[in-house]
Amino acid sequence: MFDDLSASFEDAIKGLRGENKISEENIGPALKQVRRALLEADVSLSVVKEFVAEVGQKAIGAEVVRGVKPGQKFVEVVKQELVEVMGGENAPLANVSEKPTVILMAGLQGAGKTTATAKLALHLKDQGRKALMVAADVYRPAAIEQLTTLGSQIDIDVFSLGSNLKPEQIAASGLEKARNEGFDTLLVDTAGRLQIDSEMMDEMVRIRSAVNPDEVLLVVDSMIGQEAAELTRAFHEKVGITGAVLTKLDGDSRGGAALSIKKISGKPIKFIGTGEKVEALEPFHPERMASRILG
Ligand code: GDP
Repeated sequence: MFDDLSASFEDAIKGLRGENKISEENIGPALKQVRRALLEADVSLSVVKEFVAEVGQKAIGAEVVRGVKPGQKFVEVVKQELVEVMGGENAPLANVSEKPTVILMAGLQGAGKTTATAKLALHLKDQGRKALMVAADVYRPAAIEQLTTLGSQIDIDVFSLGSNLKPEQIAASGLEKARNEGFDTLLVDTAGRLQIDSEMMDEMVRIRSAVNPDEVLLVVDSMIGQEAAELTRAFHEKVGITGAVLTKLDGDSRGGAALSIKKISGKPIKFIGTGEKVEALEPFHPERMASRILG
């Protein structure tokens, strides 16, 4: 999987070629290359610094067995650390025994929340689960329509109460309906703003209190790159997230946002969006993303 490491990253190990161990003296240029590769992938600077420091420590301490070149060992340490930082394996979606499992979708406007809500509902349907989607974005009537249209496309029920009630009231009524009518999952689509603002956060907190979600998924447009760090920090501090959905990975972003999100919140990216179509959702795989980030 890492066979296609770019020339730029291969340079990282040049500083270690011919040497027989990884030491504080010879690791410098290699670490610089890792730093550059991560910055090119648009990982936030603070995350890059922390990551590089950790890789340095691990690599210097790493045992280089006979027959393995220190450069190879170094690349292995970098890969392992990337995969580990991003959560190791794919993290599944909550599925609680006391139904319904409640999933709150959060994020900025345009990130792909409404689309991701429908994608997740379809994904769950494919697994035999029965989701109810709640349209709680009361500021954009078009968002309610969008969810309704998507719902009829994939044959998933959508609950809405128009745009005159508070989102937390709509979400609470949706939860009641889900309980009464045997839906096993409730997906709440919420309103985003163009940027982080306290009104949005307060609203998310009220919705969270109203439905006590098992998952709060932050939907992040992968194209925002290093800005994902601040976004994640803000949402995680104020609302508390349990995971993320990274969207628009069909574009040319290198996926550095994935590293920032996980490192800052400690919460896993659970799914990635790979297109506008409602089928374009995949479970997140740290190994694949590590390759993409390294370029
Ligand atoms: P919201 O404001 O967060 O609810 O965002 P929307 O779900 O309305 O999505 C905003 C735009 O991004 C729409 O045009 C979507 O079709 C598009 N979109 C969402 N997810 C993806 C994705 O994974 N890939 C691509 N290419 N476009 C996406």
